[in-house]
Amino acid sequence: MILAASTGERPLSLRELAEIDVDRLRGVGEQRRRALSEFGIESVLDLLTHYPRRWIDRTNQMRISDAEVGTEVLLVVEVRSVEERTVRNRRKMVTAKVGDGSGQISLVFFNQPWRARQLETVKSVAVHGRLEEYRGFRQMTNPLVDPIGDRTGRIVPIYPQSEKVRLSTWEIGGLVEQALRRCEPRGIDDPVPIEYLERLGLIDRFAAIRAIHTPTSMAEAQDARRRLAFDELLRVQLALVRRKRELEAASRGVEHIVDGELIGRFFSSLPFPLTGAQRRAIAEISSDLALPRPMHRLLQGDVGAGKTLVAVATLLVAVQGGHQGALMAPTEVLAEQHHSGITGLLGDLRVPDPDNLFGDRPLRIELLTNRVGGQERRDVLAGLADRSVDLVIGTHALIQEGVDFASLGAVVVDEQHRFGVEQRAALRDKASERMPDVLVMTATPIPRTAAMTVYGDLDVSVLDELPPGRTPIVTRWAAGPMSEPQVWEQVRAEVGDGRQAYVVCPLITESENLEVASAEETHERLVSTDLSSLRVGLLHGRMAQADKEEAMNSFRSGELDVLVATTVIEVGVDVPNATVMVVLDADRFGIAQLHQLRGRVGRGEHASTCWLVTGEADGPNPRIEALVASTDGFELAEVDLDLRGEGTLMSTAQKGRSDLRLASLRRDRELVAEARDVAFSIVDAQSDGDDAAPLFDEVSLLLSEDDEAFLTKS
Ligand code: ADP
Ligand code: MG
Repeated sequence: MILAASTGERPLSLRELAEIDVDRLRGVGEQRRRALSEFGIESVLDLLTHYPRRWIDRTNQMRISDAEVGTEVLLVVEVRSVEERTVRNRRKMVTAKVGDGSGQISLVFFNQPWRARQLETVKSVAVHGRLEEYRGFRQMTNPLVDPIGDRTGRIVPIYPQSEKVRLSTWEIGGLVEQALRRCEPRGIDDPVPIEYLERLGLIDRFAAIRAIHTPTSMAEAQDARRRLAFDELLRVQLALVRRKRELEAASRGVEHIVDGELIGRFFSSLPFPLTGAQRRAIAEISSDLALPRPMHRLLQGDVGAGKTLVAVATLLVAVQGGHQGALMAPTEVLAEQHHSGITGLLGDLRVPDPDNLFGDRPLRIELLTNRVGGQERRDVLAGLADRSVDLVIGTHALIQEGVDFASLGAVVVDEQHRFGVEQRAALRDKASERMPDVLVMTATPIPRTAAMTVYGDLDVSVLDELPPGRTPIVTRWAAGPMSEPQVWEQVRAEVGDGRQAYVVCPLITESENLEVASAEETHERLVSTDLSSLRVGLLHGRMAQADKEEAMNSFRSGELDVLVATTVIEVGVDVPNATVMVVLDADRFGIAQLHQLRGRVGRGEHASTCWLVTGEADGPNPRIEALVASTDGFELAEVDLDLRGEGTLMSTAQKGRSDLRLASLRRDRELVAEARDVAFSIVDAQSDGDDAAPLFDEVSLLLSEDDEAFLTKS
């Protein structure tokens, strides 16, 4: 068998290990083979990458006689007797007497009838829990139990799910040890160049595989985990970075002139200095724009961080070199809002033009949505085709329908569009010869490390600083009906001072009809009770477009004091005079959505408040508390990631991704960034030779085509 081959041969590659069936191991017959394949173990590689769920550190264990009542302890004990009974309310109770030579205690389990069978079939178990005293006897109630067989190592690995498929954790452990022993003569190949391992303090791969299964200390187990998690992340990043470089190589971009006169005029026309974050983002974008390869960059920034300005600077660089710029918004309303905002921002900026008698000409900005029709539309289209339109703002249709650009140089895509390979292809068709540079903007902050994975073939710039002079939004939690009156009191007070308020109705995801009904009900209730003295409007998704617009316009112009709405107001509404946001049933929303909603206030000079109304609190509410504590979208995104538990890539991105078992976006934040750096170095150095071939072979072995397609579908 290959495993037993003579020494002196090349170390085993992962692919070779993947080609050896587990039934080649001693003790794996028909039945075990089937049991193993029930949890996806077919090959020796599958077995070696079936990692322990946790380890029991027996050096930490305590003797029963030394354990103190009221403390949490780890005991390794023998099961002496097991008894099953039915107690009140037909609850099942399993009691076991266990001991370790120094004493004896009882384990009591409620509603776990299967424990009886489990405990009858094992000899030794590790139990972890709080030691209690009950009627003079010492016991643990519902402790964590890990059968460990007769394994005597100091640190015992516990494998996942093994009970369900009738394979004990020590049987798996035994097979793993056998496989490791048989890999010993050749060792396992480590294709990651040693200089990176040294720089990042990562241990050798074979040592890591050995240590994750049979660590001699907990520190060694952690080092092993870190190394193997790095390998998983590196494979993902290699796939993404290679894809990114391929796309870049496949098309030629425009080498823009980044510090010309138009940009200078624009910056000096601004009534305020740029924030540090804006300056940084513009510098990052400029260096992309100057290069011959097309830019594909994500700009992340909280609501109000000043993304528009960065977008406009990007587009003007294109205009400066005689090209055109386009901004795509997700809806017509937002396109119109951007058009008027940007027209205002650029005022009467003039484009330097040596062919013109005056040395310059006015900048031409146009709007193109489905609502622009007739002669107006024909004029815009003609202007795009003959280059007389410099900037066009519109919806996604800009790049899809019969719109011809004379020379499209830069495109900014605003908000949540998945601007992927297909759209890039559409853009390439628009572009005569050169691929325009693309900037995608999003106001939904995702943690940087997640962005590096989810949007892994993009570069990322971050606006993590709000312009000065904003009064931060104060967020308060109103829990239970007793605390609601103060909310409406404040709404009335603010309206008394000439301000306005939003009330967001409970989110009902099951049905839009129910949601609309609840919005109508809320509206009726407030009009006839707490807000009866105010002018209260209603806005929801089932209203006719004209009615929606009328409601929005009346609110914007101040004819309404309060707007009761469903989440349709989440995106893009901008009424600086609104200073109160009340979110009802706030615990039905996620952190990101609440943060997004809250961004609708705090847009003017006045101090703003956001009320999160929930039912009576029956304990801490970490999501609500996080929003009360922080207005920083990036910080909240990190909290969100933490609260979602383990947060492995698998659970945040896509189920069934086979290769990401250890890496966690939460625990391994810095490792993601490091893996990305290493991936860039490896991919960019690749032209010198084929040193990286074994690594890329692992990528194709372990990342399925689906994984890769998913990862690059940015
Ligand atoms: P975003 O699109 O990121 O939500 P905007 O671009 O709409 O934010 O900017 C929000 C507001 O902040 C606008 O009124 C804009 O004029 C203003 N603003 C942008 N940059 C600055 C700055 N550097 N200093 C002061 N105000 C700024
Ligand atoms: Mg914006």
